[in-house]
Amino acid sequence: MRVLVLNCGSSSVKYQFIDMDGEKVLAKGLVEKIGLHNSEMSHKRHDNVTYTVEKEILDHNVAIEMVIDILLSSEYGVIREKSEIDAVGHRVVHGGEKFSGSVAITDDVMKTLEDCSGLAPLHNPPNIKGILATMKLLPQAPQCCVFDTAFHQTMPDYAYTYALPQNLYRKYGVRRYGFHGTSHRYVSDRVAACMGRPYIELKIITCHLGNGSSIAAINCGKSVDTSMGFTPVEGLVMGTRCGDIDPAILLHVMEKEDLTIQQANNMINKHSGLYALSEGASSDMRVIYNDGEWTRDHVHKLAMEVTAYRIRKYIGAYAAAMGGLDAVVYTAGIGENAFYLRALACSGLEFLGIKIDPEKNFKASAMGEWRGLEKAVTTDDSRVQVWVIPTNEEIVIARDTSIIVSKNKK
Ligand code: ADP
Repeated sequence: MRVLVLNCGSSSVKYQFIDMDGEKVLAKGLVEKIGLHNSEMSHKRHDNVTYTVEKEILDHNVAIEMVIDILLSSEYGVIREKSEIDAVGHRVVHGGEKFSGSVAITDDVMKTLEDCSGLAPLHNPPNIKGILATMKLLPQAPQCCVFDTAFHQTMPDYAYTYALPQNLYRKYGVRRYGFHGTSHRYVSDRVAACMGRPYIELKIITCHLGNGSSIAAINCGKSVDTSMGFTPVEGLVMGTRCGDIDPAILLHVMEKEDLTIQQANNMINKHSGLYALSEGASSDMRVIYNDGEWTRDHVHKLAMEVTAYRIRKYIGAYAAAMGGLDAVVYTAGIGENAFYLRALACSGLEFLGIKIDPEKNFKASAMGEWRGLEKAVTTDDSRVQVWVIPTNEEIVIARDTSIIVSKNKK
C-alpha cells in the first residue's frame, strides 16, 4: 500500500508519500506561504532529484493539487495514475476527548472535528481544509486522521484536571490534553526496542524539543502525564512560547500595559520563550549556543539555564509521578542536536540514576558522527539510560492509516 501523509498548517502543507512495503519514502516536500504572493513549493524524490517553484498558491486546494501533480509528473514524480495513491493519512492537532486513537474519516468524524475546532482554533481549521480538499481531489482514496492529542487520552483524571471551577471543564472542555502525542508514542516505542525491553514494562520520559516543546511520562506504554495542557503554551520553555508561568502575571501585565486579549496572546505565544530570554536575539537554539560558544555570554547562558532547569524539574516530577524511571529520550530539532542542553538538563540527576557520558553525548549531535542515529548517551553503568532518537511522526501516520484501511477492506 502507498500512503500519502499530509500535515496541513495554516499557511503550509508538508507531505510524504510512503510505500508501506519496506516503509520507503518515495517523495516528500513542503508547500509554504500559502495565500501570500511569494508561495513556494519544494519537492524531493527518493533518488534526491529535487524540484522547487515560487508562485502564487491561493489556498489549500491549490497546494494539494500541486502535491498530487508533482507526484504524477514524469520528470519529478513517482506514480502514473492518481489511483496509485492508495490512502491518505492526515495529521490532525486536536481530537478533544472524542478520539483516543486514529480513525477513518467519515461524515460523523468530520462533524466531531468541527466541534473540536474551538479547542484548537489555529490548527484544526487548516487540518479540516486539507481533508476537504483531498476528498475532492482524490475521491477514490480512503482517508484517516491521526491526532496529536490521542496518545495522551490515557492520562488519569488527577493529571488532566485543573483546580479551576469544574463547570469550565463541563462547559468548555477546560482540561489538560497534551500535544506531540504521535512523536512521544513513536520515540517511546523505539527506545524500548533499542533497549531490547518490553515497552509495556518500562517507565519512560520523552522530551520532544523543537520549536514547540513538550515532555511526557509514559508508564507501561501509556501516557500518564505531559507538560502541554489545554493549549500548547504550557510546560517547557519553547522558541517563542513561555511555558509555565503564574497565570496572574497575565492579568497584571494586561492591566498595567493596557493589552488586548490578542496582544496578551501574542506575548505568551510569539514574544516569549528563548526569544524573550535572549533579549530578542533569536528563538533558534543555534543562535543562542553557536558551535559550543555562548554568542552573548551572560544573557544566552541564562536563557540556556532557564530552559534546562525547566526540563530537569519535569524529569524529576515525572519520575515521581511514575514511581521510578528506566529511560529518558530526547528528540526533535533541539533534542536531537543540542548536546549541551541535554547535558545541562540531566546534570544533578545522578541521584535518579542518570549518568551522561560527555563523549557519547557530543557524538549524538549536529556536530558529531552519530548525527541522525538512535544512540544511548549515558555511561554503561548508568541505571537509567538516556537516548537520542530521531522522531518520525510521518511513519506513525502512514502505519496507522495503512492498518485502518486494510482492516476496513476486509
Ligand atoms: P518543529 O517544532 O517546527 O517541528 P523542529 O523539530 O524542526 O521544529 O526543531 C526546530 C528547532 O530545532 C529550532 O529551534 C532549531 O533551533 C533547533 N535546531 C535545529 N538544528 C539544530 C542544531 N544543530 N543545534 C541546535 N538546535 C537545532
